[in-house]
Amino acid sequence: MYKAIVINKDEAGYRAELKDQNDEDLPEGDVTVKVAFSTLNYKDGLAITGKGPVVRRFPMVPGVDLAGSVMASSHGDFKVGDAVVLNGWGVGEVHPGGLAQKARLKGDWLVPLPAAFSPAQAMAIGTAGYTAMLCVMALERHGVTPDKGEILVTGAAGGVGSVAVAILAKLGYTVVASTGRPAEGEYLKTLGAAEIVDRAMFTEPGRPLGKERWAGAVDTVGSHTLANVCATTKYRGVVTCCGLAQGMDFPSSVAPFILRGVTLAGIDSVMAPKAERIEAWNRLATDLDVSKLALITREIALSDAIDAAGELMAGTIRGRVVVDVNR
Ligand code: NAP
Repeated sequence: MYKAIVINKDEAGYRAELKDQNDEDLPEGDVTVKVAFSTLNYKDGLAITGKGPVVRRFPMVPGVDLAGSVMASSHGDFKVGDAVVLNGWGVGEVHPGGLAQKARLKGDWLVPLPAAFSPAQAMAIGTAGYTAMLCVMALERHGVTPDKGEILVTGAAGGVGSVAVAILAKLGYTVVASTGRPAEGEYLKTLGAAEIVDRAMFTEPGRPLGKERWAGAVDTVGSHTLANVCATTKYRGVVTCCGLAQGMDFPSSVAPFILRGVTLAGIDSVMAPKAERIEAWNRLATDLDVSKLALITREIALSDAIDAAGELMAGTIRGRVVVDVNR
């Protein structure tokens, strides 16, 4: 027997509940993991509340991330006792996920837990933090070095945003944090932001081109925000696009791309190849100040995860939420 959050959709409606599950409820897979910690990402919030069509099979255990130890394995790369971390691959969407005390998965999806992190720290990072690292790696790949100028992070007080601010600051970039929560200004400065700007300067329809300011950007928000960020990015600057907290639309023009050579770099964490995941986790071990994680993170019990998902959707959670699935 093990506990799990289970989402159902039937004649009684869409609902998430904390339930006792049997081992027979575990799906197919070559590695069984005793989950220590999971987390709540924006996608988990959409799944648990039903506000977005994330879950594509029912019943479903949500949780796109987990960290724990191997209980059983017939996969060559993993043996009993190995510490592992999982992000994405459709887990929590089409394959039962991490908001449970046990998970059975494909070993090919697992990454060894870097020695630098405890399972709780790995979940403080989670998909949000690993995606922030993918964004920073994309900026670097496109030649955005700290001397090029300011880097804008939108949705800065959220999960991806908070980790992105911390990583970029540690790497020596000048970070401008855009937030709709001025009360989180001090928090963002402690993470390393040089300046805080009001997100209202990006959220409304804007002009195709504005005054050039950003050498690079990490956009977690989409919609008019992404359009305005592209319109104010400097000649040959780079905008990484990973989120849709404002909306999935992109009401822009080609002007920033054809007149200023701006690059829009798409970031997907879910199906990213394993080598890139391992690189991102290794980079997190060196480029993220773990002492900042405590500031970014709040820990909750599995039984609190459903309520916390509602808070996440309301945009009132700061940084990251770690879920201790065993309390
Ligand atoms: P989160 O913790 O909820 O943060 C989202 C932040 O966006 C909020 O904290 C808020 O920041 C800002 N925001 C919310 N509603 C907004 C609105 N209507 N207009 C403008 N800004 C708004 O979520 P997260 O886990 O960081 O994820 C952020 C986004 O990235 C989500 O859309 C998620 O789906 C996406 N994501 C994508 C990938 C990928 O693989 N591409 C991976 C992870 C996450 P402020 O309060 O600071 O303004």
